[in-house]
Amino acid sequence: MRTHFYPTSAGEDAERGPCGTWLGEASNLTGDWDRVDCRRCIRSKAKMLGAHVAEERAIVEQMGDMADFMKSAVGERHD
Ligand SMILES: [Zn+2]
Repeated sequence: MRTHFYPTSAGEDAERGPCGTWLGEASNLTGDWDRVDCRRCIRSKAKMLGAHVAEERAIVEQMGDMADFMKSAVGERHD
């Protein structure tokens, strides 16, 4: 039995794991990397985490731009 990485927020009834393996009743899913023993999942761990980090960074940057925009808009209004 293999335990694949699969964040619960991604959906409960997945047919395939993020590593591309078809999931059956003999597969476990977990969002906890410490419990993952699927080699393909572990090998793609860095890639998945990297993508996740890049995504979060983009969101933070977008929010920062928005904050700057709001600040300058408010500043103009007060001047
Ligand atoms: Zn896997």
